[in-house]
Amino acid sequence: MPILVRMLLLMPLAASFAWISAAPTRAEEAPTGTSAPRRLPNLIIIFADDMGYGDIAGWGHPTIHTPHLDRMAVEGQKWTSFYVAASVCTPSRAGLMTGRLPIRSGMCSDTRRVLFPDSAGGLPADEITIAEILSERGYATACVGKWHLGHLPQYLPTRQGFDQYFGLPYSNDMDRVASAPPGRQAFLAPQISFWNVPLMKNEEIIERPADQTTLTQRYTEEGVRFIQANRDKPFFLYLAHNMPHVPLFRSPEFAGRSLRGLYGDVIEEIDRSVGQILNTLRETGLAEDTWVVFTSDNGPWLTFEELGGSAGLLRNGKGCTWEGGMRVPCVMWWPGRIPPGSVVREIGSTLDILPTAARLAGAEVPQDRIVDGFDIRPAMFGTGPSPRTHMFFYRGTQLYAVRLGPYKAHFITEEPYGANTNRQAHEPPLLFNLDIDPGEHWNVAAAHPEVIAEIRELVAQHRAELQAGEPQLDKRISRR
Ligand code: MG
Repeated sequence: MPILVRMLLLMPLAASFAWISAAPTRAEEAPTGTSAPRRLPNLIIIFADDMGYGDIAGWGHPTIHTPHLDRMAVEGQKWTSFYVAASVCTPSRAGLMTGRLPIRSGMCSDTRRVLFPDSAGGLPADEITIAEILSERGYATACVGKWHLGHLPQYLPTRQGFDQYFGLPYSNDMDRVASAPPGRQAFLAPQISFWNVPLMKNEEIIERPADQTTLTQRYTEEGVRFIQANRDKPFFLYLAHNMPHVPLFRSPEFAGRSLRGLYGDVIEEIDRSVGQILNTLRETGLAEDTWVVFTSDNGPWLTFEELGGSAGLLRNGKGCTWEGGMRVPCVMWWPGRIPPGSVVREIGSTLDILPTAARLAGAEVPQDRIVDGFDIRPAMFGTGPSPRTHMFFYRGTQLYAVRLGPYKAHFITEEPYGANTNRQAHEPPLLFNLDIDPGEHWNVAAAHPEVIAEIRELVAQHRAELQAGEPQLDKRISRR
């Protein structure tokens, strides 16, 4: 069903909520009150891996020093209710790249939660990525960093709309060698040789094991080179750091720099990387032509204790559908277009980047399939509210929770990891008012049956139009 038709279907529901002040169709209007861009705008997505809502100084972390991200927020825009499509790497990235819930592309599973080096699946070729849409519009496109949407040749970034690729095709804790210390010990004193991960350039492996101590800096240098090489044409840079996913590595220059320890060192190096990217845009005169989004693929990996990040005041972290798993830090920056110092408290999602980028590039949002993202230009440019009024929280292929306006209903809750994940179904669902209670402490279901009824209606509509894609994460390379 085309997105516009679907949005229209949702309108009666949306209109019944007092906190929704505009119809979703506002999203299709051109932004007003700002000067027209000189060229098709560039897009840069800087994606951290497993960085939590509470890991940036400007978001309240007391000891991690992040001057560049803080400056980016002062010059740009902070989104305080920004969600990823899933609480683990592969499905989250599939959602970002396609603007579609991972259930639709088959990029989620209840048995294997992400892709592994023995996986035979990947993002299907018939999915339409941001890179493919922008490439069609004449953009130069580069993927630098972690991909994790399939490492076999037919699934690499170069087959999904990217002109070039440089990075690790999956997580930096994979390909662990048998001689590495057991369990957590390998992470407490990580050595490059413990994880035999490949560093790829386009479709070739150029280094193995990858020297992870210099990954953040090499990714940044690659990104800077790409910007400089494409200063005269529109470009899309997807800069997806492998850090701060464990095992944690940083360059010698950052060793011991942060009061927060190794994890803080890693974040501070990512912060410097952000500064280097934004400075390159300033120096090349491209700042006013470039929409930059900084965010994370999922919440902090709390089971790694001090080696994982912090979700701040949010509940729990990576791997679950509590807020700490899926609400992530997000800063958008575009001098001259995004009002400096603005804060968007309405809902946004990585799913929204594809339709927004498409409209900015003068392209159509794909009409032959359901796209779950919204064009968020009104909220970005300060001309109207965010068209996104709801968010679905999936774990694998199952819908666990739904946010509508300030309310979030949990139909199922489950701990992220462990031998006993304590999976519990809730009937009626648990209900939290996230405006008042972002930490999800106080169940207000009994006081708001009408909200639960509205959310049930939204779920029924969603299920009626849902077609699950062919499962990709359970396929394994056969061994003979
Ligand atoms: Mg991750």
